[in-house]
Amino acid sequence: MKYYIGIDLGGTNLVVGLVSESASLIDKESVLTNVRAGAAELLADMKAVTDKLLKRNNLELYQIESIGIGVPGAANRVTGMIEFANNLNVSNEPFLPMAKEVFKGQTVYFNNDANAAAWGEYLAGAASNAKSFVAVTLGTGVGGGIIIDGEIFEGVNFAAGEIGHMVIVADGIPCNCGRAGCFEAYASATALIQQTKAAMKGDVFSLLWELCSDDISKVEGKTLFDAVRRGDETAVRVLKQYIKYLAAGIINIINVFQPEIICIGGGISKAGDLLIEPIKELIAKESYSRTSAKQTRIVTAKLYNDAGIIGAALLRDVNQPS
Ligand SMILES: [Zn+2]
Repeated sequence: MKYYIGIDLGGTNLVVGLVSESASLIDKESVLTNVRAGAAELLADMKAVTDKLLKRNNLELYQIESIGIGVPGAANRVTGMIEFANNLNVSNEPFLPMAKEVFKGQTVYFNNDANAAAWGEYLAGAASNAKSFVAVTLGTGVGGGIIIDGEIFEGVNFAAGEIGHMVIVADGIPCNCGRAGCFEAYASATALIQQTKAAMKGDVFSLLWELCSDDISKVEGKTLFDAVRRGDETAVRVLKQYIKYLAAGIINIINVFQPEIICIGGGISKAGDLLIEPIKELIAKESYSRTSAKQTRIVTAKLYNDAGIIGAALLRDVNQPS
């Protein structure tokens, strides 16, 4: 059996996974990400966690085919640097060459973490065998990854796929990226929770209050879906508006790419048909291609948090700059 190491360098956790050639996750190990550390310290942490994982599985580093790292920023494979990594302290350091040194000459790849997660879902999850695929992950923000003709689409500067930062409401809610009205300011899990809390303040009798034990700080995405299932009118109204925002972004993606599959991931996607069916209805009504015989399939993610590890582990030399 061939083994691969996938590393997901998140803003909270640094997770290392041992992955088989058939893209299954054999074992994983994690530590908290030291967000203030530079590249050298982060790589030392990655090496230590990898060593621990390998030891537990009776393997040595030389038995690993390759190592892939998903990073929260644009992974510039020309310079080996991580760019636009707002949550890390690694700019202006040659991350990839340093990683190759730390991992003793092993083949090391890196890519953006959302791209790695899309790649994982593409290879082993919701999108097997599709030629074109877009992953939309609803979390703290809205992550995206675009696969075209079996390769990650990276753009001229490795920064493509930031679907969370397309504007869906001009002059709308300010976004962390500096624009206003971005998709992620309306369709992330964070946004859904904000929308739920705002609606609760206008309805003291909503079941939502009971579901969070009258503590509004405990509201999660799940709280809203639980209230919708029990027919709470305020919750139904919040969800209906949220789905309009989410569908607006997804229909934009369909109109631009016409991908075979769009996969919706993140904790919220566990709501399943409550979320997916109304989105499909809006797509059928509004997408430019609504009369085409072939339509984009909308599915939910299968791998969730493991997508980033599996995708990173199976990164390979695609789109290699010449
Ligand atoms: Zn933005």
